[in-house]
Amino acid sequence: MYDPLHDKTPGCGEVYPNSYWADVSGEAPQDDGIINQDIDVDVAIIGAGYTGLSCALHLAKEHGIKAHVLEANKTAWGCSGRNAGFILKSSGRKPYSTMQKQWGEEVMRDIYDEMCAGVDTVKELISQASDLGIDCQQQAAGYIKVAHKPKMLNELIALAKLQQKMFGYDVEILSQSELRQQYMDDRNAYGAIRYQDGFGLNPLKLAWGYQQLARNAGVKIHTASPVLNWQEEKNGTKNVQQTLHTPKGIVKAKKVVIATNGYTPKGFHSLVTNRTLPVLSQIIVTEPLTDEQIAACNFLTSNVVMDTRALKYYYRKLPDNRLLFGGRGAITGKSADDPYYAKRLLAVLKTSFPALTKIKYQYAWSGWICMALDDLPHIYQSHETNEQSNVFYSMGYCGSGVSFSVQAGKRLAEKVAGINSPNLPLYQKALPKFPLAPLRRVGQWGYFHYGKIKDEYF
Ligand SMILES: Cc1cc2nc3c(=O)[nH]c(=O)nc-3n(C[C@H](O)[C@H](O)[C@H](O)COP(=O)(O)OP(=O)(O)OC[C@H]3O[C@@H](n4cnc5c(N)ncnc54)[C@H](O)[C@@H]3O)c2cc1C
Repeated sequence: MYDPLHDKTPGCGEVYPNSYWADVSGEAPQDDGIINQDIDVDVAIIGAGYTGLSCALHLAKEHGIKAHVLEANKTAWGCSGRNAGFILKSSGRKPYSTMQKQWGEEVMRDIYDEMCAGVDTVKELISQASDLGIDCQQQAAGYIKVAHKPKMLNELIALAKLQQKMFGYDVEILSQSELRQQYMDDRNAYGAIRYQDGFGLNPLKLAWGYQQLARNAGVKIHTASPVLNWQEEKNGTKNVQQTLHTPKGIVKAKKVVIATNGYTPKGFHSLVTNRTLPVLSQIIVTEPLTDEQIAACNFLTSNVVMDTRALKYYYRKLPDNRLLFGGRGAITGKSADDPYYAKRLLAVLKTSFPALTKIKYQYAWSGWICMALDDLPHIYQSHETNEQSNVFYSMGYCGSGVSFSVQAGKRLAEKVAGINSPNLPLYQKALPKFPLAPLRRVGQWGYFHYGKIKDEYF
């Protein structure tokens, strides 16, 4: 599998991974095909995931700028077509309590508002897309965060109280028996908190819906058009001429947006080099559960579920009664497709639901999430006085970007259009560099071992 820390390109026109989403979503909608001649454009956006598509859509609709999106493979070939489809009011991994200590209450609240705006924008776009006949298979609302140990329930309750007090957020507390009786009989769960407003959907269809909206607004989306080489030259004005080389055509752009997130190739651009850590997240989808199996697990809910482990597991019941179950995957691209990782997830699923001892998985795939050193996404334009001031990026959602990437794309579009972003660390600061960057994977390996011990013994 493509490995962003080793490979210079994610490929060219690669097919979708063998995922459940690729299997059930039908035909991909039309795009604008390969770049097959040299073109001059105002704005080139590299990467057709949610970030790139949202940026393009908002540029067209709100600022009258019709961008060209350059995608190496297919629309949403990266994380956006492979994720678990959890729509949550969060991104990154930085707890609100830490934000409050570090930046104060106002900044913390403003960041929370940005996360909420992400969910609102997704909902709004879904309702627009629905008019065009695109169904993202939205499921009933509810996000359950389960305590994987009795003591973790206390931490969850403290979190619920903080969110109720700070944001007036409606968070329900569920004892172990309430959870098992009313939602699902997860034997690894010791109680939970439940938010009323998270939900699950089909992530690939969501991206296709965005693509359709963007194309309707005049955006061009070029697939099978990887940027293989990037030159920056002064052209006499303040700005730098950006020249992007794709296999069949050169794109000269006044402004360039990097929307490649966890799929950013090795050495792609100095602005992002050594500032992210791509980490594999793995998903399995089981065969459909029978009515007896559903009853034996008391699986009443299709809410999205995540646990409190350092190395988290997440799951949901899909509309056709299959279970989607996810967690960490391999460390390198080379071992990504080793069935060991899917089997490991299946074994954990069976400890949660012992009635499913005979269940098999029918789909297994993984994708690169994008970790940031400070656990926060960054939407950034290189500084005005810097020669690269016409290059922009948004990345570092830390595995939680389905909803926020859309808000990030909207803010990116504002930056490209020359509008100031809110004065928040998310929008004003560059991604911090990883110290000892060549050893990032060693650090990841160490964290996995630490997490395993913490989750089991502490
Ligand atoms: C298994 C898994 C489960 C997840 N589950 C959830 C979830 O339930 N909820 C949640 O909030 N988040 C989840 N995430 C994270 C979420 O999917 C991402 O945060 C989000 O999709 C990021 O979107 P993006 O557009 O920034 O990047 P991507 O969707 O990764 O898009 C980047 C694109 O850039 C393209 N590209 C790279 N290099 C080049 C180049 N040189 N030229 C042209 N194109 C290039 C790639 O082909 C790719 O299509 C999950 C991620 C994974 C992997």
